[in-house]
Amino acid sequence: MPFAEDLPVRNFDQTLRRPTTDYVRFTDQYRVVLRVLNEEARTVWRHYITQANKGKGMSANCPNVRADMSVCPLELSVRGLPKESQERKDKIARRRYITNVLDRTPHTICPACNTNSPQTRSKDCISCGSDLSKADFQPLNKVKIMEGGIRLFNQGLNVIADNQAQDFDGADITEYDIVFTTTGENREKQIAPNPRQPTPLPAEALLDPLTGEKQALYDLDLLAEPSSLEEINLMLQGASKEDIFAARENSRELEEVAN
Ligand SMILES: [Zn+2]
Ligand SMILES: [Zn+2]
Repeated sequence: MPFAEDLPVRNFDQTLRRPTTDYVRFTDQYRVVLRVLNEEARTVWRHYITQANKGKGMSANCPNVRADMSVCPLELSVRGLPKESQERKDKIARRRYITNVLDRTPHTICPACNTNSPQTRSKDCISCGSDLSKADFQPLNKVKIMEGGIRLFNQGLNVIADNQAQDFDGADITEYDIVFTTTGENREKQIAPNPRQPTPLPAEALLDPLTGEKQALYDLDLLAEPSSLEEINLMLQGASKEDIFAARENSRELEEVAN
C-alpha cells in the first residue's frame, strides 16, 4: 500500500476556475512547523520568467526533460553566453525540489479581525496587529507543497534525515516535525530547519476540519510535468495567468485524446 494516496486537490481558485496549489511561505515573521508527507522529494527543473503574468513573474517547468534535448526557448536563448553571465544564470533552469507537507505551524483565529493568524515572533496578529500573546494556538494541519532549492533540500533536509535516522533508530523523515526559522528577505533569505523528536501524527491531524475526510495530497508528478512550449512562449510574451492556465488545460486535453 502506498504511504499516502495521490488524490485530486480540493483548493479551488474561483477567479481562475481551477484547482490551485498551496505553497508553504517562508518568512522571517514566524517560524514554520512542517511534517514531511512524502518519503522522497521530487526534482523539478524550473525557470523563473519575470515578464510572465503581466510582469508579476511565474515559474515554468523546463521542457528539456533529458539532457540531450534542446526544445526549451530559454535554454536556447542563452546558449552562446559564458557560464558566469548573469543573464545566463537568471534564465537557465534551476534544480528545485517539491514535497507534500502538513503545515503544523501554530495558528489561532484572531478575535479582532477573524484571520487565522500564525504565531508571529512579535506575538501580534499577522493581519491587524492585535496582541495575541494570550491566545490559544493550535497546529494549522493543512496539506501544502514545500518547494526549495539545493541549499534547503540537499544541504538542510538530507543532513537532518541522516542524523535523525542515526539518533532515532532509522526514523524516516515523515516521522517527526521540522521547525523552519527564516532570516532575511528575498535574495538574503536563509531558512534553517531543525527537527523535533519523532512523534506519531495524531490521526485527526490529516483530516479536513470542514468535511472530516482525509486531506488529499498533491500529485507531485503533475506538478513536475514539463510546461508546454505554448505555455512558455505565452509567459515570455507577458500573458496573464488566466491565458497561461487555459493553454495548460488545452494541452492536457489534447494529450488525453492522443492517449
Ligand atoms: Zn528550459
Ligand atoms: Zn487580527
